[in-house]
Amino acid sequence: MSDSIADALLAWYAANARSLPWRNPPGAPLPADPDWPYRVWLSEIMLQQTTVAAVTDYFARFTSRWPNVAALAAAEDGDVMQAWAGLGYYARARNLLACARAVVAEHGGRFPASAAALRTLPGIGDYTAAAVAAFGFGGHAIVIDGNVERVITRLYAIDTPLPAARTAIRARLAEIVPQQAGDFAQGLMDLASRICTPKSPRCLLCPLQPHCAAAASADPTRWPVKAAKRPRPTRHGRVWWIEADGQVLTIVRPGKGLLGGMRALPSCDWRGADAPPPLAGDWQDLGAVSHGFTHFELVLTVSALRLPQKPQLAGDWWSVKEIGDAGLPTLFQKAATLAMAQMAEARA
Ligand code: SF4
Repeated sequence: MSDSIADALLAWYAANARSLPWRNPPGAPLPADPDWPYRVWLSEIMLQQTTVAAVTDYFARFTSRWPNVAALAAAEDGDVMQAWAGLGYYARARNLLACARAVVAEHGGRFPASAAALRTLPGIGDYTAAAVAAFGFGGHAIVIDGNVERVITRLYAIDTPLPAARTAIRARLAEIVPQQAGDFAQGLMDLASRICTPKSPRCLLCPLQPHCAAAASADPTRWPVKAAKRPRPTRHGRVWWIEADGQVLTIVRPGKGLLGGMRALPSCDWRGADAPPPLAGDWQDLGAVSHGFTHFELVLTVSALRLPQKPQLAGDWWSVKEIGDAGLPTLFQKAATLAMAQMAEARA
């Protein structure tokens, strides 16, 4: 049965694979291009927590500006962080640079081919290591992401809740992954995104339907079983819009921590909205913006101060009209948009 599952999936993938700039067509030998693993790695880091649609333009921009790992390793931190702005989860951008530099310093500018060696590089976890080994080098790696988890828990009706179910998922996959491990994994991912979707799996169109335990049940969406989630706490803070001479004060956040190394508006440490402002003045509260991080929801009150001339404060002054080009992460761009709208209204 394991062969028939793999055969059915590979046949479906051959006919239905999405064409993506970082993906080898099904059944084709890997490109001879020595930078191929770099492209695969870059796409996998970008795709973590982000959709294909959101990543495509970023991938094109990055690979045209930094076509190989050596070029990326030599890039200025600020340029990479700015180019990453809008993709979110900024620790990934810092790890991207750290990884590129480690590949150059420790591996002569070539990614290692094995999942075990890849796993030792910054920002590369089990999934990414397996994905780069399989898609970048054609290795026989077992690639498991959330999509693969959904299909496999349904295929075998695995009742153990995630994440504990991962042991059983890996064991099942080890039985069915064929020699073409990369095509098989990408086929599972495409199947998951187009057929075995979270809320409405289309079992009648699915090549795995004859083998699928969930399809034989009344409700395939029962799987994967998820452990009860704890509610995400909400944190509060304050962000300061300080405007003078048509410019606004920006800072670069410290390298470590959330949004580290990113250009931002000055803000408190997000432990409460009652933090004192960076200078005395006639501050106006303009409203609040919110943003969801992995472990908490953040609500920032936006306070604004307009001054006749620039005060002596650490940071860089940025044209208000061009603040959209500053590479602010989404949270701070939301605050800037709110401040600009409210300040324009006050001026009108
Ligand atoms: Fe998913 Fe249905 Fe296919 Fe099973 S038959 S893998 S539940 S789409």
